[in-house]
Amino acid sequence: MSDHLSLTLLGTGASLPSKRRGLPSLVIRKDGEYILCDCSEGTQQRIMHANIPPSRIHTMLISHLHGDHIFGIPGFITSQQMASRSNPLRIIGPTGLQKYLQLIKDISGYGIDYPLEIDEMSAASHEFKAGSFYVAARQLDHHGQPCYGFRLQEKDKPGKFNSRKADALGIPHGPERAALLRGENVVLSDGRTIEPAMLVGPTRPGRIIAYCTDTRPCKAAVELAQECDLLVYDSTFTDEHTELANESGHSTSGQAARIALEADAKQLVLWHISPRYDEEDELLLLQQAKGVFPSTLLPDDLQTLTLQPRSA
Ligand SMILES: [Zn+2]
Ligand SMILES: [Zn+2]
Repeated sequence: MSDHLSLTLLGTGASLPSKRRGLPSLVIRKDGEYILCDCSEGTQQRIMHANIPPSRIHTMLISHLHGDHIFGIPGFITSQQMASRSNPLRIIGPTGLQKYLQLIKDISGYGIDYPLEIDEMSAASHEFKAGSFYVAARQLDHHGQPCYGFRLQEKDKPGKFNSRKADALGIPHGPERAALLRGENVVLSDGRTIEPAMLVGPTRPGRIIAYCTDTRPCKAAVELAQECDLLVYDSTFTDEHTELANESGHSTSGQAARIALEADAKQLVLWHISPRYDEEDELLLLQQAKGVFPSTLLPDDLQTLTLQPRSA
């Protein structure tokens, strides 16, 4: 069975698009399923450039209702209608999401025939399933604007079955092996009892992706990122602009790195980069984070990051 898990960073900029960086949106791909985090203006074309089949995106996780994160949703929804989508689509975001989409629907007068579910969040924390992921959502600290960060966790995988040893022990192919994989003891026809630990390796923990934007450094972000494989975190500003970051409800790259360090994340992806910075400034943004947390990336738009399986 395939074990693919990757992220394609469709747009890595903030607030308004620049030539180099589009507005924030990313796709998580696990085998054949896709989840979109935020849907900014320009997302549809970037999905095409990344060769992602839009009809296979089953869930959109919307962090908050600022325009740079949601202005692509109506276009995506209506294009899917024109493309005769039949797969269900679920959009999850803060209170106000339904009103926003209803207003545009009323004004534009479009109809949707495929199953479209819009779920709003208002509590400080929510937990739900999205496809094969367990998702935790927590309210972050974005200058008074309700804004959620997300932690997506794969299911744990059963340990590897040692077929060579099973053959040597004379365990028949069939229900006995299935029972061992489920963690049950098996009594063979000759009276021997076989315990799962004799043949099945330890459970392999599922991988974890945390997506935290837009936010000041906060406890909720550390909780969401706890021991994650990949943390995508607000790094709108360099450390020189710490005051501005605080006033606007964002973080600097140095603050992002300290969150990654505190949460014991494996890798940090700097995200939501201000369009005020040129390439030289961005180098500084990256250096400031790496000085605190070396395993940091400043990605380009359309970059894909593949997560390695976790060892047991
Ligand atoms: Zn933003
Ligand atoms: Zn915002």
